[in-house]
Amino acid sequence: MDFAMPENVAKELEEFANFLKKHMDPFLTEWYEKEIIPREFFQNLGQEGWLGFKQKDGQFVEQPYLTQTILMEHLAKVSPGVAVAVLVHISLGMVPLFLFGSESQKATYLPSAARGETLLCLGNTEHKAGSDVANIGMEAEKVDGGWVLNGTKAYVTNGAISDLALITAVSDPDASRNRRLSMFLVDLSSTGVSRKKLSKRVWIPSDLTRLRFDRVFVPDENLVGEQGKGLHHVLSTFTQSRIPISGLTLGTAVGAFEAGLERATKREIFGQRIADFQAKSFEIADFFTRIQAARLLVLKAGWTKDQGKDFRLEASMAKYMSVEIARLIGVWAADLFGAASVMEDHPVHKFPMDAWASSLGEGTQDVQKLIIFREIMKKN
Ligand SMILES: Cc1cc2nc3c(=O)[nH]c(=O)nc-3n(C[C@H](O)[C@H](O)[C@H](O)COP(=O)(O)OP(=O)(O)OC[C@H]3O[C@@H](n4cnc5c(N)ncnc54)[C@H](O)[C@@H]3O)c2cc1C
Repeated sequence: MDFAMPENVAKELEEFANFLKKHMDPFLTEWYEKEIIPREFFQNLGQEGWLGFKQKDGQFVEQPYLTQTILMEHLAKVSPGVAVAVLVHISLGMVPLFLFGSESQKATYLPSAARGETLLCLGNTEHKAGSDVANIGMEAEKVDGGWVLNGTKAYVTNGAISDLALITAVSDPDASRNRRLSMFLVDLSSTGVSRKKLSKRVWIPSDLTRLRFDRVFVPDENLVGEQGKGLHHVLSTFTQSRIPISGLTLGTAVGAFEAGLERATKREIFGQRIADFQAKSFEIADFFTRIQAARLLVLKAGWTKDQGKDFRLEASMAKYMSVEIARLIGVWAADLFGAASVMEDHPVHKFPMDAWASSLGEGTQDVQKLIIFREIMKKN
């Protein structure tokens, strides 16, 4: 067993950190003010090979998940909101196409998605169906040469900036729960698509958008994977994405911890540094340890996936634990800044808010516990 970071991953992390210093850090304030991530940023990421896939002998190969978690942690330490937009494009957009798309879909869309020129998102959640993924009502009616989609996807990250969306809809209403849905690749410039950017206070500057489909025609060739296997495709996508989002959430905790630690060692109250109050020093020790423990779970989830082993238990445990600590440490760090922390433009303000957002994406804490319990019971 080796706990050291592999040399090649350490090198990638250093290169990624340099990339962010050049292409993200100087512009972040503006992106937060305007609540938008420019397309050029995705193109820059793509040009330098940071969009989750590498091309090898003409084939796309996924970046190892161990590396993805480490890079996500680093990005989210600075901006969980930018990190989620990148994650959604890769893990909810490119990954389902890579896993379930036809050869022709992959050849048509993956290269430009990997260059950051075509942006992707995924819409499953509806007002009546979030945790209960299968319970969606969006209709897919079969017509000559394709399908007609009708319905609304309530919360779609990157919905405002994406060109294409992976959309789940009911293609087989009379089939069993597991076979009712199909997944479609929808061109968001199609007639009948409308978008409403929602006003939110988490994961800024990413967008959260309502996508409405009013008799939108989708050609047969845009069915992703098999008809009737949409539930399987979307659940598999979420299971995989749980690993990078755990890295993102760990980064949220680390960013908060570093901000809190800096404050505690600089601010003097009652004639001494906050960190010198024993109550606060114990909190610092406690949270530092919890971060290390969560990181071990996150890395193990990535490693397990990279080994080709069943990673469902590890992914849910990593997501569960990283959200627990990010919520705890986000609020702790904000507390240390007192009144200043409630100002929206204060750097610490985003951490508790973004930890809250992390608790919803790719399954709530309750959903993670359901999966963890189910996996435990399979072995007992
Ligand atoms: C910032 C943000 C970005 C998002 N981006 C996307 C996106 O890109 N694409 C997309 O499709 N969706 C997206 N979502 C939606 C997200 O996936 C859902 O909000 C999430 O799945 C929870 O669904 P819900 O909001 O309907 O809550 P509900 O499912 O109604 O849950 C409500 C409460 O009930 C609990 N609960 C649910 N089931 C059980 C159970 N069996 N046992 C015990 N307790 C339970 C939950 O834990 C929660 O506390 C996003 C949401 C947010 C906030």
